Amino acid sequence: QFHMIKYEDLRWCESLGQGSFTRIFKGSKIDIRDGERHVTDVLLKELDANHKNCWESFFEAASLMSQISHKHLLLVYGINVMVQEFVKCGALDLFLKREGSVSVSWKLDVAKQLASALNFLEEKNITHGNICAKNLLLAREGDASQGSSPFIKLSDPGINVAMLVVLDRIPWVAPEVLEAPERLELECDKWSFGATLWELFNGGQAPLQGLDLERKLQFYETYKQLPSSEWTELADLISQCMNYQPAFRPSCRSIIRQLNSLITSDYVILHAAEPLPD
Ligand code: ATP
Ligand code: MG
Repeated sequence: QFHMIKYEDLRWCESLGQGSFTRIFKGSKIDIRDGERHVTDVLLKELDANHKNCWESFFEAASLMSQISHKHLLLVYGINVMVQEFVKCGALDLFLKREGSVSVSWKLDVAKQLASALNFLEEKNITHGNICAKNLLLAREGDASQGSSPFIKLSDPGINVAMLVVLDRIPWVAPEVLEAPERLELECDKWSFGATLWELFNGGQAPLQGLDLERKLQFYETYKQLPSSEWTELADLISQCMNYQPAFRPSCRSIIRQLNSLITSDYVILHAAEPLPD
């Protein structure tokens, strides 16, 4: 899958802003196949000039993504500058904030797709390390209010947490990683999955928004949990994932099983109960 892209075959278009130590642009890449010129929209992510010291970590994220392939993982074509497939509908958190009404079955679809990507990574013994709603890209919106299926792709993990101010990443980063960044292991993604589920079911708002870094740290130090959903089975799944003991977090199989049973048992009831009282 991996192949060389020549710099002159890339076109740089508008800036899409900044990420963690990165600058992000929309662009296109030009291929000549069978004598024909093909233009593909791409997303170009380059390391910010002030953070050249993170080069190795950036390179690692890019090459990881270009070596594995799964329908719910973003395609990465090139790694010197990270050249990725351009995902039209953008990041999930922004979509949820924009969209207002999103059906429960739509959200469960997203959750199941993420769980399947996670399961794939777990089988390959790969830790992603940066799962959050902003890193879930919507390749297809579906009809969010009617519940017709979306299609998501998990983006690259970016710069390793060890290089960042990790407090920013609370509550997505697993608590054990704060103490020792080298403890970034499979279980950490389960914690992040829990926080991402929370975002998904809370309209894409960032959990713990408005808390300063010190308060965020206190959140972990006092073993707090995110405000729980009225939907007890969902709340239960989130709190299993966000268990402070990594070993007690559920396996991907168990996560998938629980998500499947959420669909069959509760979403009809939840629909009938909307809007939920305070
Ligand atoms: P991090 O490593 O923390 O995830 P990053 O460098 O990946 O940082 P993001 O904040 O994840 O940067 O991405 C910035 C924005 O760029 C996203 O909110 C999204 O709107 C857009 N974006 C990122 N990747 C793509 C893509 N492949 N296609 C379309 N838009 C994208
Ligand atoms: Mg990202």
